Amino acid sequence: MNVNIKYKTKVKEIIVENGNVKGIETEKNEKIYADKVILATGGKSYPLTGSTGDGYEIAKKVGHTITKIKPSLVPIETYNKEQCEQLQGISLKNISIKLIDKENSKQIYENFGEMIFTHFGVSGPIILSSSAHLVRYENIEEKFRNKNIVLIIDFKPALSEEKLEARILRDFEQCKNKQFKNSLDKLLPQKLIDTIIQKSAINPEKKVNEITKLERKNLVKILKNFEIEIKKFRTIDEAIITSGGISIKEINPKTMESKIVKGLYFAGEIIDVDAYTGGFNLQIAYSTGYVAGSN
Ligand SMILES: Cc1cc2nc3c(=O)[nH]c(=O)nc-3n(C[C@H](O)[C@H](O)[C@H](O)COP(=O)(O)OP(=O)(O)OC[C@H]3O[C@@H](n4cnc5c(N)ncnc54)[C@H](O)[C@@H]3O)c2cc1C
Repeated sequence: MNVNIKYKTKVKEIIVENGNVKGIETEKNEKIYADKVILATGGKSYPLTGSTGDGYEIAKKVGHTITKIKPSLVPIETYNKEQCEQLQGISLKNISIKLIDKENSKQIYENFGEMIFTHFGVSGPIILSSSAHLVRYENIEEKFRNKNIVLIIDFKPALSEEKLEARILRDFEQCKNKQFKNSLDKLLPQKLIDTIIQKSAINPEKKVNEITKLERKNLVKILKNFEIEIKKFRTIDEAIITSGGISIKEINPKTMESKIVKGLYFAGEIIDVDAYTGGFNLQIAYSTGYVAGSN
């Protein structure tokens, strides 16, 4: 194939005449003429990789609508900074999470898998996926401000409350004279223990055989419903994907051609489509690229 690749050449605009594409103009005012153009400049997230959102302005200039640009698959900041700093670096596997809107008791999201605590809050696969749902939730910024949205972590999803209590009782039986602070190492990662002890309000020095039934039940509740208030999304610079983009109403899905400018095609993240982690976003880029290229 006779392909001329121009590196380090920034496209400034698309040349259109009477509703037909005529080519592109670069930042250095070089005009390159063509009767077909594919715009595939990516989204606005992770600008380090080159996707700085230029394509939106380029498309807007020729009459396209850009839906609201938001970060998606993005880490989340939480209100209790001190607690997160304490938990920073803990990576949890096989846990389950729920996102609840406390204002109306609505469950926004539920998943099982892996997450990590960071210095600002939470991240990791199921947190990133949850952000894709939060981004679409009505009045989310206001809900964040009012501390309505809570993340509830179940550290032991495989055990019911009763089974977990029985398990804790068994552990306590084996270390009757130990202090509470030294009794949870079989149950939890070391770095999590201090935080759980603080939340439980049980004196860490207390002997295990002096812990009351009520205290034990409260401990179980904390392990199954560890609550964290959500503050905001991290910025779009840290998002894996951009939500929003060229309105799909203005693109023919069979060819990826613009319905506004003849000969102009779109592919990839610049379009208003986004998906979960797991290769779906790359697949969107490959498939739309293939269709646009074939046409
Ligand atoms: C850290 C990270 C991890 C990811 N992991 C996954 C994953 O596991 N699975 C998954 O499915 N997706 C993942 N994604 C998302 C996926 O990489 C993107 O959805 C996909 O690369 C989009 O492809 P694209 O070709 O549309 O845009 P991009 O890959 O962003 O490419 C756009 C290109 O256009 C160039 N460009 C921009 N503006 C101009 C201009 N004005 N002139 C000329 N060139 C320009 C840019 O330099 C860039 O090379 C991840 C993204 C990030 C950032």
